Amino acid sequence: MSHPDAVSLTKSLLGFDTVNPPGRERDCARSIGAMLQDSGFQVEYYEYADSRTSVVARAGGSAAKAPLCLTGHIDVVPLGSRKWSKDPFRGETDGDRLYGRGSSDMKAGIAAILLAAVNSKKLFPGTPGVVLVLTAAEEGGCIGSQHLARTQLLGKAGAMIVGEPTSNYPYVGHKGSLKFHARFRGISAHGSMPELGENAIYKASKAALKLESFDFAVSPHPVMGKPTVNVGTFEGGQGVNMVPDVASIGVDIRTVAGMDHGLLLNNIKKLLGSDAELDVFSDMNAVWTEPQHEWVQRVFEISGKHLGARPQPRAQTYNTDAGNLLKVYKGVPAVVLGPGEAAQAHQTDEYCSMERIRQSVAIYEDLIRDWCRA
Ligand SMILES: [Zn+2]
Repeated sequence: MSHPDAVSLTKSLLGFDTVNPPGRERDCARSIGAMLQDSGFQVEYYEYADSRTSVVARAGGSAAKAPLCLTGHIDVVPLGSRKWSKDPFRGETDGDRLYGRGSSDMKAGIAAILLAAVNSKKLFPGTPGVVLVLTAAEEGGCIGSQHLARTQLLGKAGAMIVGEPTSNYPYVGHKGSLKFHARFRGISAHGSMPELGENAIYKASKAALKLESFDFAVSPHPVMGKPTVNVGTFEGGQGVNMVPDVASIGVDIRTVAGMDHGLLLNNIKKLLGSDAELDVFSDMNAVWTEPQHEWVQRVFEISGKHLGARPQPRAQTYNTDAGNLLKVYKGVPAVVLGPGEAAQAHQTDEYCSMERIRQSVAIYEDLIRDWCRA
């Protein structure tokens, strides 16, 4: 696979249907891996389930300093219920816009990472080099990276760039998330004799309202602001003439750096009482690097040259694979920086700016060069 520029590479990645669910990242992952192998990268694949393929590729390597990690996800979210006016898989363009599902989130970012890495290949021998971690199943819980973090494949990294959509602005962190279902049981009875039963929907409703006014009792983070809670789903009841014996709510808490999820969960349990059966299905810490960190300052300087102004410390609200990868790459500085537009993620007629894609290749190349030289 030979790709002269980032836009055509993004288009070719858009052509792979990696809509998750079901995912099916394998063909896209193999194509990415083949391109990297052709350029001398050592490529490994990991499938946590059939067709759910992640790619880990590396080049260079030195005993003195760990490689720079660039990471992104291959899967994309479903098309949604609204009709698209553009083909989601063919990379249609209009002016500077390149349309397609995953254009912003984040096949443009994947393309930019690939191209910057391949363009830098002559640089790698004898230097720290890079490790590219291109994951399956990020959408809906970062499952791919969660599995990857349990393997030995990630090796070491000295710093990390997450290519999620930021319009190439470097973000020094993002919120964490704690997601769970809380199930409440009752006793079913005939709808005409509710006094004989115990209504699970009432219990779940009271819990939802308690969560609405939950006090996190933490002072706002200077950059991330406050933690948030949202009850996103509500299920219960089998018939209007029955007292429901089970009901559950789905809860999404977004935390800020410094919060202890274990402690938080204990407080939630206390709040909801012993009636609540909690099932935590996603638990990822916030990601935060002090803006004064030496490498972050380098990132600000280098990206600032391309962006026209020196960036200020900012954080994203959305989650990324970094939460899992940092369980292995413990304590390394991380920034989120990628060509997509955050506001376009998961939208109907999602698009990305082609100029931003080219710009991100240049920024990544500069950051790779800077890492390998220092
Ligand atoms: Zn994403």
